[in-house]
Amino acid sequence: MDQSSKPDEASSFRDIGDLKGQTAVITGSTSGIGLALARAVASHGGDVVLNGLGDAAEIERTRAELESSSGARVLYHPADMTKGEEIADMVAFAERELGRLDILVNNAGIQYVEAVENFPTDKWEQIIAINLSSAFYATRAAIPLMKAQGRGRIVNMASAHGLVASPFKSAYVAAKHGIIGFTKTVALEVAQDNVTCNAICPGFVETPIVAKQIADQARTRNMSEEDVLKTVILGSQPTKRFVTTQELTGIFLYLVSDLGASANGASFSIDGGWTAQ
Ligand code: NAD
Repeated sequence: MDQSSKPDEASSFRDIGDLKGQTAVITGSTSGIGLALARAVASHGGDVVLNGLGDAAEIERTRAELESSSGARVLYHPADMTKGEEIADMVAFAERELGRLDILVNNAGIQYVEAVENFPTDKWEQIIAINLSSAFYATRAAIPLMKAQGRGRIVNMASAHGLVASPFKSAYVAAKHGIIGFTKTVALEVAQDNVTCNAICPGFVETPIVAKQIADQARTRNMSEEDVLKTVILGSQPTKRFVTTQELTGIFLYLVSDLGASANGASFSIDGGWTAQ
């Protein structure tokens, strides 16, 4: 083997947290996990394209605050993750405005809780579009840029529900299992291009997507919200606490560094032991 090609001997070696000069597109980064990852990129010197839904003035406040607190360039693109052309435009925007694309995080996601026989068909289509197909459209647009640069990192935000199921979440569980298959396939296709593609599988994290779910689960299961939190949500996690966004930032920074170069096509469970059961 040519020892000079070992990552730890390369002159441009990128250690964990060294994101200077790099750029990231993070879908669904106006809130929750995506926003935490965007903060991590900007605070480590990388430029970011934010994306997601929300009040325009609030998004602009978040963007401006992130830019001024980090010194990085922080832009926003409003692509709707149900629209393939808008997603492709978001990736082109990142290259046009920031000059390159090093990191793509397919993170946008929604949830809907209902028994399969009552599951609204439009909710099924929407969840498959946002939680699964959007990653295809963004990855499809990003890979040619990453190959041309000779390096790239794709991180897909899957879920413990990409590995195991829970009742009443048929669309979400199907999409998250799908994204893990997609991650593996892309990883094989780009393995010799110094591009990696991995999935993170968080357990429950305290974000708006979970807050809404507690009320929905209480309705579907005919339980109190307190009981849903104790037995359904934290009941799955042996640690009996939420996973934190800082803990997800840790694995993310590893995956996008050069130390993560051989992590490819893998799913990283950050779930307090949920899927070990
Ligand atoms: P969140 O609700 O805080 O964030 C979701 C983001 O997706 C928001 O920015 C929202 O605006 C964006 N979004 C939704 N629909 C969109 C659309 N059509 N176009 C563009 N953006 C859209 O939730 P979160 O917990 O931060 O979730 C982020 C990801 O992490 C999701 O994929 C979710 O499935 C996954 N996840 C979350 C948990 C958890 O417990 N919170 C656990 C496992 C996986």
